[in-house]
Amino acid sequence: MFNNIEPQRYHVEYHDLVPRLGDRIVCYNGKEFLVKTDGDSISFPTYEEYDIASPYRYLFSIEDDRYFLYIGDVYPEERRFSWVTSDFFRSKQMSKAMNFAGITAFHLAKWYRTNRFCGVCGNKMEHDGIERMMHCPECGNTVYPRISPAIILAVYDGDRLLMSKYKNRKNARFVLIAGFAEIGESLEDAARREAFEETGIRIKNIRYYRSQPWGLTDTLLAGFYAELDGDETITVEEDELADAQWIPREEIECSFDDFSLTNDMIWHFKQNDFKDLI
Ligand SMILES: [Zn+2]
Repeated sequence: MFNNIEPQRYHVEYHDLVPRLGDRIVCYNGKEFLVKTDGDSISFPTYEEYDIASPYRYLFSIEDDRYFLYIGDVYPEERRFSWVTSDFFRSKQMSKAMNFAGITAFHLAKWYRTNRFCGVCGNKMEHDGIERMMHCPECGNTVYPRISPAIILAVYDGDRLLMSKYKNRKNARFVLIAGFAEIGESLEDAARREAFEETGIRIKNIRYYRSQPWGLTDTLLAGFYAELDGDETITVEEDELADAQWIPREEIECSFDDFSLTNDMIWHFKQNDFKDLI
C-alpha cells in the first residue's frame, strides 16, 4: 500500500517551523501541485530551488526530510517545474515516500484552504502555535484537521467474493463494497448498512483487517472481511452501482498494485491467505 514506507518513518507531530535549505516544498494551487523534473527524476522542489521567501506552513517529516506547504499565491516560473493533478501520485513516478508525502500533503492542503475563515462568525482564522489547529480570535471557534472514517468490506461466501462496479465511472472495475461511516454508527454498523444498502445482503463474522489513510478523499479507510449471512440473492443499489456479483476466486482479476487497501484485500482473498491475516 502507498502508505507503507518502512523502514522510513512518518512524523506528523506539529511544530511551528520555518523552512531551511534542503526542505521540500509542496505547492498546491487548489487544483494542481508543482513538481520538479530533473532527467528521469520527478520530485517536490527543495526550498532553495523553489526560491520564494514566504509564507509557508510546516506539514510533516519523513525521516529527516521536512515538508512545508507554500501558502502564498505567487508561483515560481522555473522551466523544470510543472503542474500535476493528484492523480499523478497514483502513477508512481516519484519515490514511494514522496508519493505518500504528496497524498498526505493534499489532505492537509485542502484542510488549510477550507479553513481560512471562521464558519461561525466569518472572521479570519489563525493557526495555533502549539498544535495543528485553526482558531478564531473573535469568537474562539477551534477547528482540527478533518478525517472522515470509511469502511471497505470484502464479503465472502466460501470461495466467492462479493464485488461491485460503480456507476458513472470511466473504466469501472469490480471492486469491494465501500462507504463512509455515518454519525452515530460504529465501523461495524457502517459495514452492515453498506452491505445491505448496496447489495441487499446480510453479513456476519465481521473481522477487522487493517486501515489506510486516503488523503485523496480526506478519509481514513478501515478494511473488514465478513461472511454472507443467509440469503445470497443480490439486489443492486442502482443509484450508486452499475453491477454487483459473487465472483469465484479463480475468476477474480487482480494484480497486486502495492497502492490501495482495496487491491490488497482482493489480492489476499484471491491468494486464499486472508484468514491468516484477520
Ligand atoms: Zn469566529
